[in-house]
Amino acid sequence: MDKFKILVTEHIADAGINLLKSQPDVELTYDPELFRDFNKILSIIHEYDALITRSGTPVTEELFERAKRLKVVGRAGVGVDNIDLDAASRRGILVVNAPTGNTLAATEHTMGMMIAAARQIPYAHNSLMIEKRWDRKKFMGVELAGKTLGIIGFGRIGSRVAIRAKAFDMKVIAYDPYIKKEKAERLGVELVDELDELLKRSDIITVHTPLTEETKNMITKKEIEKMKDGVILLNIARGGIINEEDLYEALVSGKVRAAAIDVFAKEPATDNILLKAPNIVVTPHIGANTYESQTNVAVIIANQVLAALRGEEVEFAVNAPYEDTAAAKVLKPFMELAEKLGLFAVQVACSRSKEITLEFRGDLGEDTSPLVTAFLKGFLQKIVDIPVNLINAPFLAKEKGISVVEVKRPEGINFKKLIRVSCKSDRGEFTIAGTVMDDKFPKIVEINGFLFDLTPEGKLLLIKNIDVPGVIGKLGSILGKYSVNIAGFQLGRTEKGKEAKGVILVDDDVPAEAIEEIKKIPEIMEVKQITLS
Ligand code: NAD
Repeated sequence: MDKFKILVTEHIADAGINLLKSQPDVELTYDPELFRDFNKILSIIHEYDALITRSGTPVTEELFERAKRLKVVGRAGVGVDNIDLDAASRRGILVVNAPTGNTLAATEHTMGMMIAAARQIPYAHNSLMIEKRWDRKKFMGVELAGKTLGIIGFGRIGSRVAIRAKAFDMKVIAYDPYIKKEKAERLGVELVDELDELLKRSDIITVHTPLTEETKNMITKKEIEKMKDGVILLNIARGGIINEEDLYEALVSGKVRAAAIDVFAKEPATDNILLKAPNIVVTPHIGANTYESQTNVAVIIANQVLAALRGEEVEFAVNAPYEDTAAAKVLKPFMELAEKLGLFAVQVACSRSKEITLEFRGDLGEDTSPLVTAFLKGFLQKIVDIPVNLINAPFLAKEKGISVVEVKRPEGINFKKLIRVSCKSDRGEFTIAGTVMDDKFPKIVEINGFLFDLTPEGKLLLIKNIDVPGVIGKLGSILGKYSVNIAGFQLGRTEKGKEAKGVILVDDDVPAEAIEEIKKIPEIMEVKQITLS
C-alpha cells in the first residue's frame, strides 16, 4: 500500500505527532526546525502529500509550484497569513486549520487580562517584586461586578467571555452584525444593532473579531471619544483592530483608564508605542499558549489532514468554496449528476461559452452553489491542464471568465427534480438535462430537446442524423471495422423522417479515422465522441 507522506516543518505537540505516527497509512517526516531552511523545504516538498506548519513556514506559490503531490496543507493554529490561499486553491490544494483548539485558552487569557487591568496587578506586582515597596494605597482598582461589558465580535471566544463575565455579575452587551439575535439571547446577552451604542454604554470593551478590512482600525480616536470616561479596553484578538497611536493618546489623557493588549499591529512588538503608555497590561501574543490548547491544536490538525488525505469530510477547510457539508451530502447524487452534465456539455458545444445557464427544477435545496461547483468541476476538467476539484473549480472558472447563471423553478416537469444546462457559443446552442433515479442513480434524460434514458458513464458517440432507415447499420459496420464494440444505443427523434439524435455507447475509444468515416455517411449531420468516466 502506498503510504501518505506527511511533512511537518514546525514544532507541534506530541499528541498530534504520535497520532500521525500511529497511522498505518502514514509515513511521517517531523523536523520542527525545518521552517528555518526554506530552500531545503523547496528541495524536498515534491515527495509529500501533506504539509503541516505553524506560522513560520512560508507556504508560497514557489513552494506549490514544486509540490507536485501535495493535496493538503494543515496550519496548526488559526491564522493563515503565511499561506498563499489563492495559489493553493488554484492548484486544488486544500488548506485546513484548527480554529477551535485555542478558544478556551484565549477566553481565559481575556478574563485574566481584564482583571489584571482593572486591578493594576502587574504594576502592584512590579512595585513589590522589583522596587520592594509595600504600597497599598497606590493600587486602587475597579470591580467587575455591576459593570457593563461590551463584547465586539460574538463568536467562539466572545461568547465564552460573556459566560464568564456573567459569573462575575457583569451585565453583558455585544455587537456582531453577523450572528442571530437568539445566539446572544440564549446566553442572557443583549445584542445591540449599532457599534456606537455599545461604545456609549460599556464600562469595559473587549474585541473578539477577526482582522478584516472592516475591523482594521475599528476603534480609533473617533470611537474612543464616544466611550465613557475611564473605560477599560482589551484586545486579545488581532493587532490593528484598535488603533495603537490613538489608544496611547487616550491612556495618556486618562480617557481610557486602563488597557490590556496581547496582540499588536506588528509583531514582535518590542518597541511598540503602547509599551510606553501608562496603565497598560501587555503580553507577547500568548493568548493561545496553554499546554491544553497546543495539544488540542495538534490533534485537530492531524485529524483534519488525515481526513483530507483519505477523502473524508474535513471540518475546517480554509479555502473550501462552501461550508455546508451537511447539505452537500444530501445533494451528493445530484452533485455527481451536475459534474457529468458539465463534462458532457463541455465536450459537445459549450467549451467556448462564457455564460452557461443552469436550471434547477424541483426542490434541490436553497443553496444550489455546490451543484454549480460540481458542474464547473466536470466542465473544466477538459479545458485546464491541472487536476480540477470542488475547491479550485470556482477559482478556475473565474480566471477563465466563465459565469454560471442559476435559474430556480420550484415545480418539476416530467421529473420531480431536474438539472438542465444550456449554453450558446459559435458552435451553436446546446441543452442537456438530467435527474437522479431512486435517490441514487444519475441519468441523462434530455439532449437538445430529445428524450433519453442514459447512465452518464463510459464512452459514447453522440450523433445527429436524418431519420431514414439504415444509418445505424452503416455506422455499426464502420465501428466493427475499427474493432470498436457497441455496448448499446438509443435514439431520440421528434418526428419520423426528420432530424434524430442518437447515442451509441461504446466499450473502446473510437479512433479519429473512424470518426472521419462516420462523418462521411450522407445521413450523418454531426458526430462527437464523449468520455464520461
Ligand atoms: P470566531 O470566528 O468564532 O468569531 C469572530 C466573530 O466576529 C464572529 O461571530 C463574526 O461574526 C464577528 N465579526 C466579524 N466581523 C465583525 C465586525 N465587523 N463587527 C463585529 N463582529 C464581527 O473567532 P474566534 O475563534 O472567537 O476568534 C476571535 C479572534 O480571536 C480572532 O481574531 C482570532 O484570530 C483571535 N484569537 C487570538 C488568540 C490569541 O492568541 N490572542 C487566540 C485565539 C484566537
